[in-house]
Amino acid sequence: MFKILYPYEYVESVFSIDYEKLYSNGFKGIIFDIDNTLVHHGDDSTKEIDELFRTIQNIGFKTLLLSNNNEERVKRFIRNIDTLYICDAEKPKITNYLKAVEMMNIKKEETLFIGDQIFTDIYGANKSGIASILVKFIQINPEEKIGKRREIEKIILNFYKKNKYFQNRLGNIVKKEDK
Ligand SMILES: [Mg+2]
Repeated sequence: MFKILYPYEYVESVFSIDYEKLYSNGFKGIIFDIDNTLVHHGDDSTKEIDELFRTIQNIGFKTLLLSNNNEERVKRFIRNIDTLYICDAEKPKITNYLKAVEMMNIKKEETLFIGDQIFTDIYGANKSGIASILVKFIQINPEEKIGKRREIEKIILNFYKKNKYFQNRLGNIVKKEDK
């Protein structure tokens, strides 16, 4: 029913993904959202995230950050990360998803998108024909009030979780120790 909003996979975090497996399955480039996907909204990168990018790139992946945030924020984030990026991306518009694929110089079918929001990140990726992974959004304080949009996301995710057909479309890409 909400097919265009469903991710190919829904996982705990960017650290629970088996990137080697994705690479051996033919993916060559990964587009990441930043805020609440890699770090809590507005935060600087962490040692773990810097390390994760090095690991992913050592496997052979190209990377690109696709953020609706501004250049100042993105530049601050990539102080220790060597990656392509597009800021003010206006997700879910497909223009910059397609530009991202072009910048990485790979095919759409070899591209993966990872983000935390259904209505911007995943919707845009699906419209662009790019495989998508949804991660649980990073919440520092679990008591923190979540917005209306997150409430609606929860409802959609409940439908998604009941619909096996749309889940695990990339096939066993969660790291073993996280299963
Ligand atoms: Mg986000």
